[in-house]
Amino acid sequence: MLGRKPKVVVVGGGPGGYEAALVAAQLGAQVTVVERAGMGGSTVLTDVVPSKTLISVAEVMNQASEAEALGLRFPGSDGDPETAEPITVDLARVNARVRKLAEAQSADIARRLDAEGVRVLRGSGRLDGTERVVAELAGGGSEVLDADITLVSTGSSPREMDSARPDGERILTWKQLYQLESIPERLVVVGSGVTGAEFASAYDALGSDVVLVSSRDRVLPGQDGDAAEVIEDVFRRRGMELMGRSRAKAARREGDGVVVTLEDGREVRGSHCLMAVGSVPNTVGIGLEEAGVELSGSGHVQVDRVSRTSARGVYAAGDCTGVLPLASVAAMQGRTAMWHALGDAVSPLRLRKVSANIFTAPEIATVGWTQEQVESGEVDGEVLMLPLAGNARAKMLGIRDGFVKLFASTGSGRVLGGVVCAPRASELIFPVALAVEHGLTVDQVAHAFTVYPSLSGSVAEAARRLHASPEIA
Ligand SMILES: Cc1cc2nc3c(=O)[nH]c(=O)nc-3n(C[C@H](O)[C@H](O)[C@H](O)COP(=O)(O)OP(=O)(O)OC[C@H]3O[C@@H](n4cnc5c(N)ncnc54)[C@H](O)[C@@H]3O)c2cc1C
Repeated sequence: MLGRKPKVVVVGGGPGGYEAALVAAQLGAQVTVVERAGMGGSTVLTDVVPSKTLISVAEVMNQASEAEALGLRFPGSDGDPETAEPITVDLARVNARVRKLAEAQSADIARRLDAEGVRVLRGSGRLDGTERVVAELAGGGSEVLDADITLVSTGSSPREMDSARPDGERILTWKQLYQLESIPERLVVVGSGVTGAEFASAYDALGSDVVLVSSRDRVLPGQDGDAAEVIEDVFRRRGMELMGRSRAKAARREGDGVVVTLEDGREVRGSHCLMAVGSVPNTVGIGLEEAGVELSGSGHVQVDRVSRTSARGVYAAGDCTGVLPLASVAAMQGRTAMWHALGDAVSPLRLRKVSANIFTAPEIATVGWTQEQVESGEVDGEVLMLPLAGNARAKMLGIRDGFVKLFASTGSGRVLGGVVCAPRASELIFPVALAVEHGLTVDQVAHAFTVYPSLSGSVAEAARRLHASPEIA
C-alpha cells in the first residue's frame, strides 16, 4: 500500500460520485470531487428529486379527484364528480417548491461532504491519462489533480432529436419542466418509457389534457405486461389519449403551440410537448478513450461488476455506464468502486436484487426475476397474481386497480421475485425484496404477521396461495 493517503478524484457529483466520495473518505483517502452543476447531480437537481416532488403533488390531486366517491363533497358539487368544482394547481408555486427542495437537498449533500473532509471543485473534469484529472474551474482557470484512483460518474443527458430541438418554452426536456409557470393546456408526451409514463400520469392528475405518443403498441415496453395493462386502463379511464405504434418524427412550434409529426404523416397538436426519448451518456470529450477506457457502441463506459473500467485505476459508476439507470444502482456502483479500489470487503453488483419503481398512479414496483423469465423457462418457477380489489384495506381506501404478483421457485418455494402495482408500491415491495435478498420461501413470508387490514396483507396472502399450489408443494 502507499505510504501516504491515496488520492481519489471523482468526476461528477451525482449519487454515483458523492456516495463513492463518502466511502473513500471513510476509508482514509484524500478525496476531490469535480462537479460542474451542483452536488447531488442531475439526480437531485433535475431528475429524481424534482420529478418525485412534483409527482407527490399529483398524488394528492389524484386522491382529491377520487374523494367524492368516498362521500366527500367539494364546493359546487351535488355529489356528482362531474359537477364538482375542480381543485386547481398553482404550478408556479408548485415548481418554486420543487426547485427549492432540490437546491436544499443539494446543499445538504455538499455540507455532508465538507464535514467528511471531501474537497469539492466546481467545474468540468476531464482525464489526462489514468493518473491525472484536469478541472476547468467554473470561476476561471484550471487545476491539475493527481489521482491514484479516478471515478468517472458523469451521468447522462436527455437524448435530443435534431428535428425536435427543445426550446425550453414549448418543446421541453424533462429538465425544463420546472420552469413552467402554468399547467400546459394540452401536453403531448413523446415516449412511453418510464420517464414519459411518469410525467404523463403526473400532468394528467395536475389538470393537463395529455396525449401519450408511443412508438410501441403498449406503454412501458419491457416492464411487467399486467402492470402496463393496468396503467393503460387507468390512463384511458382518466381521459388520457394513448397513441400506440406512433413514432414521432419531428416537433415544431406553431403559433402558441406545438405540432408533433408522426412517421406516418399524422400530426398531433398541443400547447406543449415533452420529449422523453431516452438519454445519452456524458462521456464525450473527457479524455476517456485517450486514457484507455473502453466505451460501448452507445458511448457508455464499459465496467465489470466491481466498477472497474479497462484502464488501470479508473473506475466508473452510474448512468454513464448504462448498467441500470437508477440512482440506487449508481450509488452502489460508486461505493463498490471505492471498496474495491481501497481494499475493503466488496461483493460484486447483483442486479437481480435491485428493487425498482415506476412512479405512475398506481405505482409499479419490481424486484428479482420477471414473469417473462419464469414463463420462458429461464428459471423454474410459479407465478401467482392477486388483484388488490379483494383486499379489505384497498376497498376502504377506494383502490380498484392493481395487484400483487409473486414468483416462487418450483420445488423449494423460494421467492424469486415479484411485482406490486398499487398506490405506494414503492413501499410495499420491500418485504418481497427482503425475501429475494435472503432467499426466503413463500412459507416463511406467509408465516410473518401482517397488520389487518393492510395492503401488505396481500403480499403474505399471495405467498400463502403459492404454498397451496400443487406444483410447488
Ligand atoms: C425524470 C427522471 C426521473 C428519475 N427517477 C428516478 C427514481 O425515481 N429513482 C431512481 O432510482 N432513479 C431515477 N432516475 C434515474 C436516475 O436519475 C439516474 O439513474 C441517476 O441520476 C444516475 O446518477 P449518476 O450519479 O450516474 O448521474 P447524475 O445524477 O446525472 O450525476 C452526474 C453529474 O456529473 C456531472 N458531470 C457530467 N460531466 C461532468 C464533467 N465532465 N465534469 C464535472 N461534472 C460533470 C453532471 O453535472 C451531473 O451533476 C430518473 C431519471 C430521470 C431522467
